[in-house]
Amino acid sequence: MSRTLPSYFDGITGKVSPDAALSGLTWLGVGGRADWLFEPEDDADLQRFLAQYNTNSPLHIIGAGSNMLVRDGGIDGVVIRLTGQFAEIQHQAGFIHAGAGASDGEVARFAAKQGRAGLSFMIGIPGTVGGGLRMNAGCYGSEFKDVLVSASGFDRQGKAFTATPDEMNMRYRASDAPQGWVFTSAKFATVEGDKDTLRAEMKSMIASRADAQPIGARTGGSTFANPDGHKAWQVIDAAGCRGLRKGGALLSEKHCNFLINEGQATAEDLEQLGEEVRDRVKQHSGIELRWEIRRIGKHPSDADEGEHHVL
Ligand SMILES: Cc1cc2nc3c(=O)[nH]c(=O)nc-3n(C[C@H](O)[C@H](O)[C@H](O)COP(=O)(O)OP(=O)(O)OC[C@H]3O[C@@H](n4cnc5c(N)ncnc54)[C@H](O)[C@@H]3O)c2cc1C
Repeated sequence: MSRTLPSYFDGITGKVSPDAALSGLTWLGVGGRADWLFEPEDDADLQRFLAQYNTNSPLHIIGAGSNMLVRDGGIDGVVIRLTGQFAEIQHQAGFIHAGAGASDGEVARFAAKQGRAGLSFMIGIPGTVGGGLRMNAGCYGSEFKDVLVSASGFDRQGKAFTATPDEMNMRYRASDAPQGWVFTSAKFATVEGDKDTLRAEMKSMIASRADAQPIGARTGGSTFANPDGHKAWQVIDAAGCRGLRKGGALLSEKHCNFLINEGQATAEDLEQLGEEVRDRVKQHSGIELRWEIRRIGKHPSDADEGEHHVL
């Protein structure tokens, strides 16, 4: 599809794709297209774009898409994806510096190869560093905020920032980092460790995941955050939702907080099934589940009116 490049891409050297299909970029494998997908070449390129792009226009950032549901009506405006230089990882004086586009698994493996301990838990998170910063991702008793020294990036005006976990008020699967921030890198603290022990630790984490989660499936990981004092999967199970279906969407039998696209699901199927689970849990226990999966874009019914949702 040919489209005139808007002026906010003037002077941009990265890759700009019009009418970009996003379903292949997310784990759930559903959803519509983005007006523009932008993969900046480097910091300067990203900064130039942000300075030129109207701060009121819709902007989304996509990492590995492992915690994201793109709605069927697609996405207005620009979606940014950090690749290439943004995926680099370095070790300097005990600190691991990782680009926001680096995969969490690569960061864990890189740290272990350098004999640096503390980041093994990242082997269990199938996202990027950028997504982990936004979500304060974690597993096996550790989360990003425990090992993060600072995160850097650019705000909607293209102004550089560096912030500590405390400054962003990072907490269980959430933070107060402004929605418009684009993270470009992170600095992680580590301690000295034995390479073989770290490798064995990661191997056992991978094995225990395979036992507990449907990791080979098209899923978005935990659909809902654990409510205070409860495990989401337990209240979902108690409300009789395990194995519930809608169209091509299924609530996993193996781990009932995981939504699964069985192959033919639409984003609408998945979101409606999630809402049905929320309703049933509310009726059963009075608990209101909070979506952990980020849902972005328009419902098909909104598409004609050009309505825009960010949740
Ligand atoms: C099988 C499976 C298992 C999982 N297990 C876990 C687990 O154990 N623990 C856990 O915490 N999560 C888990 N997840 C969820 C997911 O992997 C994490 O939330 C991960 O951190 C998301 O990273 P991502 O790069 O895929 O982000 P995406 O899903 O692409 O995006 C998530 C959010 O981060 C934002 N974002 C992404 N990159 C940037 C950036 N550079 N700057 C600013 N914002 C950005 C997006 O805009 C969006 O709001 C699992 C998912 C799956 C599919």
